[in-house]
Amino acid sequence: MKRIIIFLGIQGSGKGTQANILATKHHIPIVEAGELIRKEIESNSKIGKKIKFYTTSGKMIPDRIFDKIIFNQIKKIGHPHNIIFDGFPRRMKQFRIILKIKKSLQMDEIVVIHLTLSEKIAKERIANRLVCPKCENTYSNTIDKVQECKKCRVKLEKRDDDNDKAIAKRFDIYKKQTQPVIDKLSKDNLILEFNGAKAIKNIAFDIDRSIKKVLKN
Ligand SMILES: [Zn+2]
Repeated sequence: MKRIIIFLGIQGSGKGTQANILATKHHIPIVEAGELIRKEIESNSKIGKKIKFYTTSGKMIPDRIFDKIIFNQIKKIGHPHNIIFDGFPRRMKQFRIILKIKKSLQMDEIVVIHLTLSEKIAKERIANRLVCPKCENTYSNTIDKVQECKKCRVKLEKRDDDNDKAIAKRFDIYKKQTQPVIDKLSKDNLILEFNGAKAIKNIAFDIDRSIKKVLKN
């Protein structure tokens, strides 16, 4: 069977990290919505400029632009056996893009990997989060105890929006917009839930054990 594997979870749950671990381990191509958007802005392309306008003015990126970026990336990937999506679909309107992709790639099944995390722990984690301004890799002040990016050797920074108020807002948006997507997906698809409060390697182990069973069929 050919599968779309979707990683969902609130910021701070480590879903991006876990999606990458799984992609690397099982050689599955990955579509990372956040990174595609960042790259498009950096490239200063026509679409990139439009996206920059929306994000800097605090508006949501229109779905048709989102569609285009995602489909361009899928064209580059070709016809994979399985494919991973990270950070997408986050709202109901994006859900129908996933159905379109499922059809066009002739995928048999959607599997959702949902990482759960309490607001309290997310706040603690994000408060201790440092980001590399160059590669966007994140580090924890309390776990990694490093001041510069291991890869780029540049000083790590704190994100402007990594504060309690912004986090509470993200939780609110997640409940209102992403939770309905999860509810909808869970009706006809396989949802695997994992405790995002655990350590990275332990979550990776749990996900790998579950997904191996799924990928067998
Ligand atoms: Zn870096």
